Amino acid sequence: MRRVDKGAWPEDGNGQQKIFRPYRKAKSDLIERLGAYCSYCEREKDGLAVEHVVPKKRAPTLEENWTNFLLACRNCNSIKRDKNVSRAGYTWPDDDEDWRPFDYFPDGIVKVQDDLSGPNRKKAQNLFSLLGLGRRPGNDLEMKDIRWRERREAWNAAEEAYASLASEATDVNNVLKLAKHTGFWSVWMTVFSDRPDVCERLRKDFPGTR
Ligand SMILES: [Zn+2]
Repeated sequence: MRRVDKGAWPEDGNGQQKIFRPYRKAKSDLIERLGAYCSYCEREKDGLAVEHVVPKKRAPTLEENWTNFLLACRNCNSIKRDKNVSRAGYTWPDDDEDWRPFDYFPDGIVKVQDDLSGPNRKKAQNLFSLLGLGRRPGNDLEMKDIRWRERREAWNAAEEAYASLASEATDVNNVLKLAKHTGFWSVWMTVFSDRPDVCERLRKDFPGTR
């Protein structure tokens, strides 16, 4: 999961904090700051909506509050719903933390990172189940939940790009173009983990990466 910083509350032409009423109006600012990616599963576009970290049903005062916004795809949105009562107990993409909650593997597999322990492990596990990030074929929601399949496709695309780059059949700019189009930033970071030049570009070119 990409750690993001969506920046200060956007301002209008008069230097006043923008009013997001209805909250959906925040979508273009969020896409500008974070790119058109689901903040949770990292897939690109597909039905992105303004997501309330603390569900608006739980905290109506945060319904139009920039600090409570992220972007979420249909799957993440509909699985998360209003199950969490607050931010507490989970690790969130926009938390000011530098540890990695999940590990990514071939075949679209994602797991809570093995090295985590204590409260961080618990927070990563809680977010993992809140979003059903481990869902894949073999469980009853497979037909509705295509995040795993897209993640697997991204992994394959990243591996192909890695090989092309190694054989100089492509260059870093083209790899970045493909990565931004495909989404799944963490998958690309994992596949290219021994290519610091590419990782640096992935951090820089995906807007809002912390
Ligand atoms: Zn998602």
